[in-house]
Amino acid sequence: MNFKGIKIDCHYSDGEIYIELIALPSEGDEISFSVVIVKHGEALTSLLNNDFEVLIEDETIKLNKTIKRLDKLKRRLLRFKNFLSEDNLWRTEEEIRFREEIVSEYNTEYFLMTRDCAEYFKSLCRSSGTEYFKSLIDFAFIGDETLSQYPIPDRLFAFSRAEHDNFDKFFYDNGFYSRLDFDTFRSFYSSPDDFLATFKDRMDINESDLPVHEKALKLLELEHQGRQRTYFFTYGYKLNNINQLMALELTEIYKRNLPIKKCACCNKYFIPQKRSDAIYCDGISPFDTSKSCKEYGARQAWQQTLKTSESAKLYRDIYMSKQMLAKRNPDMADYKKSFEKYKQEAKRWKVDVKLGTKTELAFIAWLKEVKEKKVL
Ligand SMILES: [Zn+2]
Repeated sequence: MNFKGIKIDCHYSDGEIYIELIALPSEGDEISFSVVIVKHGEALTSLLNNDFEVLIEDETIKLNKTIKRLDKLKRRLLRFKNFLSEDNLWRTEEEIRFREEIVSEYNTEYFLMTRDCAEYFKSLCRSSGTEYFKSLIDFAFIGDETLSQYPIPDRLFAFSRAEHDNFDKFFYDNGFYSRLDFDTFRSFYSSPDDFLATFKDRMDINESDLPVHEKALKLLELEHQGRQRTYFFTYGYKLNNINQLMALELTEIYKRNLPIKKCACCNKYFIPQKRSDAIYCDGISPFDTSKSCKEYGARQAWQQTLKTSESAKLYRDIYMSKQMLAKRNPDMADYKKSFEKYKQEAKRWKVDVKLGTKTELAFIAWLKEVKEKKVL
């Protein structure tokens, strides 16, 4: 299959972005081949990391969601609908089977098409300006110790000035100076999105000759009836290439003051979801596939501490032996008491050492005394 480009429909709401990927085959059709909802910044990091699974959804979900959009299938189903009379539509088993056959026939075709679309999208990603965005993000958002003293806006400004000609050319070449299709209140929606009023009641109001504000007031009275609804305000753009998606994402990240990090374990870009000082991502660790980078990293850091810190090693040895005594002798309250007391006092010591009110050496000396059972 040949393509002449892509379109990306991108809608932002409070915590999420709805992204629809549409391939443009040379015949002039549009094929929607992926619809995903991701967190802010996730589309950008997935492109930087070449992790396409984030943007290209699971085959089965994709099929259920977007098969409706296939014009060809729609036309065929419409013909089928006309063929049957209104009264018995979708009712008999025979009809249902017939419908399923049509859908499955198109499923196969659809799978083949979407596979081509996904491959085309990946090839575009590989030839897009990912490296350019990486150099910008590395300088402005990540940086090393020398850069950390400067705020992100200053760094962004400096980068764009130092790279002036390239920066302008890059943005010009990617169509940033042409207007993008903007879309807002049209997709303002509510949850639950079902109606309280009957279809007939709503139609009666809609088709009446009342002025618009009276129609709206009547609909409001009908639908509201004391029920709580949550509204989602969204806005978005129709984009024409992957670089526009990366630039839009970066704009949103900047506007929302979100950090961009590079994982200390897998070295991939990520947006911390909970703690902005996170150093590990939630992805699978490249060193141990049964653990996330976060789990793996925490363990490594702890083992490193054990190796380098005498107090941590002593603390852990005593902890283990007291815990074991308490566990093996559940009838002897003293062991449990001693274990609890140790945990409490050691905690106080750690805080004091951290605050600088007591020294690491004093802590080690205390731990040694505990180990030799002089105290506790
Ligand atoms: Zn990671």
